[in-house]
Amino acid sequence: MQTIHQSFIASVEANPGKALFERPGQPDITYAEARVLVERFAAVLTGAGVQPGDRVAVQTDKSAEAICLYLATLQVGGVYLPLNTAYTGAEIDYFLGDAAPRVFVCTPATLTEHKARESDGMRVESLGGKGEGSLMDLAAAATPRKDSVARGMDDPAAILYTSGTTGRSKGAVLTHGNLASNTAALLESWRYTGDDRLIHALPIFHTHGLFVAANMSIVTGATMIWLTKFDGDEVVGLMANATVLMGVPTFYTRLLKSDRLGRDTTAGMRLFVSGSAPLLAEDHRAFEERTGHAILERYGMTETCMITTNPYDGARKPGAVGMALPGIEIRVTERETGRPLPQGEIGAIEVRGPNVFQGYWQMPEKTASEFRKDGFFITGDLGQIGEDGYLRIVGRDKDLVISGGYNVYPKEVESLIDDIPGVVESAVIGLAHPDLGEGVTAIVVPQKGASLDERAVIAAITDKLARYKQPKRVLFVEELPRNVMGKVQKAELRKSYADLYR
Ligand code: ATP
Ligand code: MG
Repeated sequence: MQTIHQSFIASVEANPGKALFERPGQPDITYAEARVLVERFAAVLTGAGVQPGDRVAVQTDKSAEAICLYLATLQVGGVYLPLNTAYTGAEIDYFLGDAAPRVFVCTPATLTEHKARESDGMRVESLGGKGEGSLMDLAAAATPRKDSVARGMDDPAAILYTSGTTGRSKGAVLTHGNLASNTAALLESWRYTGDDRLIHALPIFHTHGLFVAANMSIVTGATMIWLTKFDGDEVVGLMANATVLMGVPTFYTRLLKSDRLGRDTTAGMRLFVSGSAPLLAEDHRAFEERTGHAILERYGMTETCMITTNPYDGARKPGAVGMALPGIEIRVTERETGRPLPQGEIGAIEVRGPNVFQGYWQMPEKTASEFRKDGFFITGDLGQIGEDGYLRIVGRDKDLVISGGYNVYPKEVESLIDDIPGVVESAVIGLAHPDLGEGVTAIVVPQKGASLDERAVIAAITDKLARYKQPKRVLFVEELPRNVMGKVQKAELRKSYADLYR
């Protein structure tokens, strides 16, 4: 097995003049050009004192240069640490304090603010911009560094912070072996090759945009059509000259709003992937009807890279995330004991394989508590494996509602509510309740102009659900709070309505 950086060099040598990045409105960047920039960045990082194992933290806008900086970090044996561009002030202080990077790379607009954080142990530079503190200027003046620092498959390559959906973000330490093996498993499963042309519109501080989409392209010598924002009409326009789209569910919701989406405009595409949050079954069906393409949904997380995928050949089922990737084992267990459950029962999803991270950065106790003795990692998600062998996710164990002593899986209630005419989508949460412990509560987004009220929603599902699962209250909102990856922020909802039953 080769590291991602070694595979990148092989891609450069095989296709020096081919575009790695095609940027609408800007010049392409070829594999050979990217290599020169990577080697210049490698020289700058070494000059800044980056030693093997040192963290290089990066909080920049999405750019091809940021990918080159990632590859340069791997070349010098550093540990790449991308940060969500939404983080500011106290959050940045927390991440920098926690990760103690040798170098922190920011945007030109935030350079002055972050320079105040510079210390003997940490250099602060901006990626773009001109003049003092500009990494691009330093790179232009540097002599490219050709050699790379040898790293083993068990050495850390990156620290990626989790999205913070269920609490404070944790730094997941991923090794070269984690990244390389997961990339290989995905290439095989999705038949991805150097001939593919990927529409890349995802952010690159998250596992999806960086360790799925970008790594798969870099190691095969494929071309990425590089977008810094997602515009439905623009993306449909690009499909004539592309083969694959990797997206989050909100991309598909937006594509369905584009009049240009149809069989003709998607005829050249061979694969549409969705992940990072549940794809609405309704969008899955509508997309297939409009385009003839069944979206392939996959499941994974920061700590494990990707775990399961719907099949490339064979049925891609709405509401299911498919089977384990090659080389990866999954099982469903009783959360408290880890006892494997019979097929069909709902329990904790656990995973074991070369994709599973080394541990949480500087959290040995937290790490130990999330692994079973036999090496399975407890994902924190609940699911069931059906008779068809497909995994279905029913929610997160932290979102489980316990009402009157009974377990209520929000997804089950949400699916029924979502099927009511006039409902766009819903989120079911548990709120502190004086008699029940937690009261099942539905937050519903109605279609514009739909005449729905609390009683109508409850009446529509009352015959289909045991009484203890039925919402005690139904509230209507215009939209659900989501982060950039399209994940519904249930913690925010629980906070907003904390006093509903008190
Ligand atoms: P934190 O761990 O900090 O609370 P997070 O779990 O949202 O945040 P990520 O690692 O970015 O951080 O997200 C992984 C989670 O996203 C998975 O555990 C799962 O809950 C959800 N997820 C990913 N893909 C899918 C999918 N296809 N369907 C449903 N949920 C998904
Ligand atoms: Mg998580």
